Amino acid sequence: MEYDFIYSMDVSIPQQPGRQVSEDTPHAFETVIVGGTLIDGTGAPRRPMDIAIRGERIAAVAAPGTLATNGASVLDAGGKIVAPGFIDVHTHDDNAVIKSPEMTPKISQGVTTVIAGNCGISLAPLTHTDCPTPLNILGPPADYRFDSITAYADAVDAARPAVNVALLVGHNTLRVGAMSDLGRKADPAELDDMRDKLDAAMRQGALGFSTGTYYKPSAAADEDEIVALAEIIAPYDGVYATHMRDEKARIFESLEETFSTGRRARVKVVISHHKCASPEVWGRSAETLAVIEGASKTQPVGLDVYPYHAGSTVLDPDYIDERYRIFVSWSDSHPDMVGRDLSDIAEDWGVTQKEAAVRLSPGGGIYFSMDEQDMRRILAHPTSMIGSDGLPKDTNPHPRLWGTFPRVLGHFSRDEGLFDLETAIFKMTGLSAANFNMRDRGVVRAGAFADLVVFDADAIADRATYEDPKRLSAGIEAVFVNGRTSWVGEQPTGERAGRFLRHRRDGAAT
Ligand SMILES: [Zn+2]
Repeated sequence: MEYDFIYSMDVSIPQQPGRQVSEDTPHAFETVIVGGTLIDGTGAPRRPMDIAIRGERIAAVAAPGTLATNGASVLDAGGKIVAPGFIDVHTHDDNAVIKSPEMTPKISQGVTTVIAGNCGISLAPLTHTDCPTPLNILGPPADYRFDSITAYADAVDAARPAVNVALLVGHNTLRVGAMSDLGRKADPAELDDMRDKLDAAMRQGALGFSTGTYYKPSAAADEDEIVALAEIIAPYDGVYATHMRDEKARIFESLEETFSTGRRARVKVVISHHKCASPEVWGRSAETLAVIEGASKTQPVGLDVYPYHAGSTVLDPDYIDERYRIFVSWSDSHPDMVGRDLSDIAEDWGVTQKEAAVRLSPGGGIYFSMDEQDMRRILAHPTSMIGSDGLPKDTNPHPRLWGTFPRVLGHFSRDEGLFDLETAIFKMTGLSAANFNMRDRGVVRAGAFADLVVFDADAIADRATYEDPKRLSAGIEAVFVNGRTSWVGEQPTGERAGRFLRHRRDGAAT
């Protein structure tokens, strides 16, 4: 494979007599990115700029050719876009950052920070020997071994992941840890236990709280229970993200519950992977977005979306709807069936699709439950952030795990013209950092962390498909995490410079 992109140590320039350029010299830059076109993550128009890195921060952003490159590694980004590293606001990477710290599916897309713990499912705080579905999307019960956010953060830092990690605390996780009977709402003692654990988690640097009342371990929780928990994060400026109770026929009720929860708990709400997920509500995203716009006039509201019209979650007989295609993404009981359509498997076995799902459990599915036009409308909405919702443990994962960010930049921005590149980048950087109160990330300016991506706007493209999902995207030329060159020319450099980002009340998630 050939690359016309040059990354070189600028060792050929002799030092000037009498002037020592060393690591101690205050004005020496370690890396200078020259010749590129900057899109800075704020939505502002692109402009030619050179960027200097010192330590883990951006030291200077300056007109082309004006930065001293003596002693620095010089990266020629001529003809390329330089942007803030992408923030994947919706992930299930809690365990992956420890078990697969190279984080290839993400760093290869230009992602430099992942927000884990979404959908009410977080790896911490919980030590448990029997974790019900959907906690198994992160890993086996034995991997739930962190009784505090501090213990989890220490494990992340020891693993040295290639990307930064911030964590939401999951409601399902709290309930599994606190309750013996998940089929009812929490009693006062259980609620106190969960509130204490959530408060401790926030003190230790969690980013916020997430729910997934769509899932059985918390389906019996009512709005009062969620408000009693969400209000804990308010003094910390935490964010409340929710995989709503219903994204199908009752989606409008779920939106009302979400806004009511946010108002009562006085927290910002983020609607996770917003979609209209059943034929009854196909075409109604214009109405859901209007409702969201209405609410956002009186309370802070955000939303994330992935750029595909299929979803993916656990394979549960109750989720089977024979009106659309379902594709098996993993199965512990029948691994040989992975990658096949559920309807074909059911036919071979001479059973209903629900019965086939029972036999395939525990497992996961890809559900073609959306209308493409709804997804596009949500993607194009000015408030939507990009979140992959990728499932790294799956045998045959949804292609969103490897392709989300290049798909937005290449397919939807460049090829389909859904929005300009500045807007596309804003949706995965500046907007995301602002919504999650991450200071000094998601933007390129002097003083910000040097999380950066250099890409070819003409070449960028997702290559992961449903049938062949673990394919690198095209066009990502270089990725920097905390100032370290981490990915160049479709290869890891060996640097793994990410860390756990401790959220602080003042927004300094450092
Ligand atoms: Zn979810």
